[in-house]
Amino acid sequence: LLVRQRVGLLEPCEGLGEDPSLTAFPETSLPWQARFSFRQEGPMAEIKTIDELDARGKRVLVRVDFNAPVDADGNVTDDTRIRAALPTINKLIGDGARVILTSHRGRPAGEGFEESFSLGPIARRLQELLGRDIVLSRELIGPAAQEAVDALEDGDVLLLENIRFDKREKKNDPEFARALADLADAYVNDAFGTAHRAHASTAGVAAYLPSYAGYLMEREVATLTGMLDEPRRPLVAILGGSKVSDKIKVIDALLEKADTLIIGGGMAYTFIKAQGYEVGKSLCDDSKLDYCKEMMAKAESLGKKLLLPVDTAVSVSFPEPIDAEISVEYVESKNIPADKMGLDIGPKTQEIFAEAAKSAKTVVWNGPMGVFENPVLAKGTIAVAKALAETDATTIIGGGDSAAAVMQLGFADKMSHISTGGGASLEYLEGKTLPGVAVIADK
Ligand code: ADP
Ligand code: MG
Repeated sequence: LLVRQRVGLLEPCEGLGEDPSLTAFPETSLPWQARFSFRQEGPMAEIKTIDELDARGKRVLVRVDFNAPVDADGNVTDDTRIRAALPTINKLIGDGARVILTSHRGRPAGEGFEESFSLGPIARRLQELLGRDIVLSRELIGPAAQEAVDALEDGDVLLLENIRFDKREKKNDPEFARALADLADAYVNDAFGTAHRAHASTAGVAAYLPSYAGYLMEREVATLTGMLDEPRRPLVAILGGSKVSDKIKVIDALLEKADTLIIGGGMAYTFIKAQGYEVGKSLCDDSKLDYCKEMMAKAESLGKKLLLPVDTAVSVSFPEPIDAEISVEYVESKNIPADKMGLDIGPKTQEIFAEAAKSAKTVVWNGPMGVFENPVLAKGTIAVAKALAETDATTIIGGGDSAAAVMQLGFADKMSHISTGGGASLEYLEGKTLPGVAVIADK
């Protein structure tokens, strides 16, 4: 199945206008959301959206991404993801749909309810944001869930508990997907953040129901497609963060797409080790050393620039708590002491990376350059964020922590697009078809 995933043309947005997906956003809290709107172009519109759904009186199962951080007291500490789903939810409420929301949060065992992964805190926050009562159903499928759905009136909202409490979700078990579908008349996918996963609630369920994209999904796909299909070059990709083993795989594809690939953060040390240097206690995936060598050779043979940190901030241990006072020294990357760990890029590297970013016409950034949660170790991330804020290049930020860093540092409104999906946007960039997007394609 070939899905072009292109739905419209990017247009700078004059004001919020009549677009329902924009007006529901408080402009100040999500600055980047209001920067682009897009015009539906007949032949390009290949995603079915909720604008095509006659929702009145229908039971609509909506997959959202409510995977928000919750503190020990059960308070949502960052409600960005919940807010991002509001335009779709409000549209369906306004249309008189019976809204059934489903999401995952964290990584529960999949053996049933676990208090620490409950969507209870999310439900409370959502209730405040919507200004109306919602019902949280402990059961995901079956008679009890059905009963909760049957009790809904037009415009009511039901939230199912963490969908990953059932391990069949991640297995995309057809029976589970079927049972989920049985609750509803239509399916809406608004969870771009999990669109790269083929799970029951993100993909499987669509086999049994007419399926549509929510506004967030629509916006993400339109924006990323517009920017990445034929990027203005040079295209510079910046990769960092700590999910080394997860993300390192994308380098292969990125080398083909991008003109320059910059690697910082915890990602860099496996490469530095592969170059033959000591990395001490730094993050490192020893199983990927050969891969890194291959990638360096590949960059060379393709004539692409692969930039690694030439200097690095080191300390004796990871800060604990993360924002604790810490003393660091700056060393050349080839001289990392055996008893130290690299926690940020150094000043020379900051300059090199910033220069490279400034020469770009398009920059894609995923993963901070250091442990930015600590002011002493945020310098590399700040330097890169600042360079991106200052260029006229199209700048696309993906990744939860990268987005948080950019917002925390006050650069959010200077970026062209901050994606709610880190992994999803990376896979998009690789040119992969996302299962959660494929199922809402207008076939
Ligand atoms: P994103 O959420 O943007 O996809 P990741 O989750 O991969 O990014 O990584 C973000 C985390 O990486 C941050 O919490 C940051 O502290 C950490 N990090 C960055 N550089 C390093 C490093 N050198 N060593 C350890 N952790 C790092
Ligand atoms: Mg992260």
